[in-house]
Amino acid sequence: MTQPRLVAWKCDTCDDDITEPGKAIVTWRRDDDRRGYDFRIVHKNLDGRHCDPGAENGFILNTELSSFLGHNGLAYALSLLSPGPIMGDTDVQVVDFNGFVDLVRRTQTPWYEQARPHWHTEHTRHWLDDANQVYPYQPEVLERIAKQELGR
Ligand SMILES: [Zn+2]
Repeated sequence: MTQPRLVAWKCDTCDDDITEPGKAIVTWRRDDDRRGYDFRIVHKNLDGRHCDPGAENGFILNTELSSFLGHNGLAYALSLLSPGPIMGDTDVQVVDFNGFVDLVRRTQTPWYEQARPHWHTEHTRHWLDDANQVYPYQPEVLERIAKQELGR
């Protein structure tokens, strides 16, 4: 198996590659109960780019993409779901769990981002129509989705 790679993301605004996590942000909106939804990975507004939808569009929360990477990134993401035993609170800061899990997989699961454009191809549908809810999101399967090599 080739090495997993998590080196580029697709910007949710301009669709160009994001290759430097320090030049991108995760941004999201929140509802009246201060719970987050509409999580997006976009370029920072640098180098002539204007990809951050900004507070004027409701995206009042953002943090650097690098904050969601690695072990510390998983700790950060989980703290949005639960403050944990020390804080002893039940303040869940996420309302859109599907969108949040998509974000966590994009930042934590090798090959997920590369597989992401291929969910609805005929090839993917053919091979994964009967799959359970775990199988498609395992890195080795995601790599084959990314390369459209399922069934080989
Ligand atoms: Zn962009």
